[in-house]
Amino acid sequence: MARHRRATGQLVDVLARVDLDRKKAVAAVVAAGALAGAGFAQATTSVTPMDRIVPVAATKNLAAAMTAQEQAEAPQTIHSVDTGSETRKLLQAEQIQAQFHVKEALKSAEASYVKRVEAEKAEAARKAAEEEAKRPKCVRPAQGSFTSGFGARWGTSHNGIDIANAIGTPIVSVMDGTVVEAGPASGFGLWVRIQHADGTITVYGHMNTIDVPQGAQVKAGQQIATIGNRGQSTGPHVHFEVWAQGGQKINPVGWLAERGVSL
Ligand SMILES: [Zn+2]
Repeated sequence: MARHRRATGQLVDVLARVDLDRKKAVAAVVAAGALAGAGFAQATTSVTPMDRIVPVAATKNLAAAMTAQEQAEAPQTIHSVDTGSETRKLLQAEQIQAQFHVKEALKSAEASYVKRVEAEKAEAARKAAEEEAKRPKCVRPAQGSFTSGFGARWGTSHNGIDIANAIGTPIVSVMDGTVVEAGPASGFGLWVRIQHADGTITVYGHMNTIDVPQGAQVKAGQQIATIGNRGQSTGPHVHFEVWAQGGQKINPVGWLAERGVSL
């Protein structure tokens, strides 16, 4: 231990004589101290990079070893002005400034882009809301001639109204809703039943084709089928019913009129 402390002291002397770079000196003192602390025996058996330092610390005359090493490396003075280093510093400072300006410009561009995108989004949302407000809440089930009303007919009860037109004429959902049934039905040939937000169900019958699957969400005016002549039908038309919540069949003429639709 005493030997290593002496070695460290000698090293400090060497560093005072030789004009060394300060960092290098600190590193050397730390390395010497570490060796002194670890002990020579451990240092020689170690397989860590410390092995490479061992010959220096193990040398009886450490000062001589260090001197030889430093002379080989041609020590530099630390007070002379390195013009290359000053230029590098200036360039580095300018580069940092330029990077700052680029970052600021990017930030500003990004902010205005985000602002523009947000404005466009707001405008699109406003337009969509406007369109939604303008969109009719209720429409007639098909274009054509009103051929039969609701009530007693031919000794029986006609539970809906008939609108006649050519086969293939579009039939639309009268309001937004969900298709609760779409397929064959006794007397109707084919039918589609659509449930609306208030629980009312509208029924469309005798169609030639069905264009929506059961479970589909539909909008007022969206085509759901085409006029046909299936089931108990005397000519191409759509039979249209309105079922109140609870299943009571009500007069579609009054129901449509309440919603601004006249036939
Ligand atoms: Zn009918």
